[in-house]
Amino acid sequence: MNNIPEFLIEMLKNQYGEQLTKSIIDGYSKKRPVTFRVNTLKTQVETIENKLKEQNIEYEKIEWSNEAFIIKNIREKEIEDLDIYKNGEIYLQSLSSMLPPIILQPQEHIDILDMAAAPGGKTTQIAALTNNNAHITACEMNKIRAERLKYNIDKQGATSVYIMQEDSRKINEFFSFDSILLDAPCSGSGTIDLKNENLEKNFTKKLIDKSIESQKALLKKAIEVLKPGKEMVYSTCSILSCENEDVLNTILKSGKVKIVPIKIDTNIKLPLLPSKIEGTICIKPNELFEGFFVAKIKKEI
Ligand code: SAM
Repeated sequence: MNNIPEFLIEMLKNQYGEQLTKSIIDGYSKKRPVTFRVNTLKTQVETIENKLKEQNIEYEKIEWSNEAFIIKNIREKEIEDLDIYKNGEIYLQSLSSMLPPIILQPQEHIDILDMAAAPGGKTTQIAALTNNNAHITACEMNKIRAERLKYNIDKQGATSVYIMQEDSRKINEFFSFDSILLDAPCSGSGTIDLKNENLEKNFTKKLIDKSIESQKALLKKAIEVLKPGKEMVYSTCSILSCENEDVLNTILKSGKVKIVPIKIDTNIKLPLLPSKIEGTICIKPNELFEGFFVAKIKKEI
């Protein structure tokens, strides 16, 4: 038995069938290891490897990001006591959550918009990927979360980020961007925490409906302020198609955008769920990954 709302199980079964739903629920129950990203704005991967070895901290690397580390023998609290954490040389981040900025492939010397930025994991990752040489606008509607965003941006030394505390749906169309990340607010159906005693109270159909409404409005705005011929990434930590493929379909039918297929090297081991739109990826929650959806979109010229 578990405390997953019955309606969610039904939605998962309708979308994925019995077998995959079982596997997803099994994935929800896994205690994932601590993972972090090395902040290359402040240090180098080799330096962190040496510091971990000095302190007998066991780790594993992954094939698709040199900066990502999986910690084997200690938990968050002990990591948070380390100088490398306190100095902002590393940023605790789930592996799935590192994918959208990598897929975005942000370039230096361009205007980048992060439309739902707090607490700033992906904003600071974009700053690092562009060596603080891009112009990044990080938009966050919630005041308290915007303060957290500022704290993380300062701590990580992401000097190329300008914070805008604003509802992204209201961004003036006078602005335009070369690259956009929309890591949209969502129900969190990919990251269900079975230990959460309030799960049934917090995870509701209303939450899903509210999320869909803002996802659609945010995506519409993203396309409006994206320069023609340029690309953006849409991501959520939901694995429900109503928050992902269905939201994308609302803009795909306009004919103004197309999906840029995300190419995954066959050597890369990602636990994938079937997606209804070819070229987009949906990650299945398991012992290493949270459930996540990522799509790359190009605005036609
Ligand atoms: N990208 C973040 C990261 O990697 O750390 C996580 C973003 S979280 C999924 C979504 C964020 O979007 C929340 O902080 C929420 O307050 C914010 N948000 C929701 N609706 C928004 C809107 N209309 N405009 C700006 N921010 C919004």
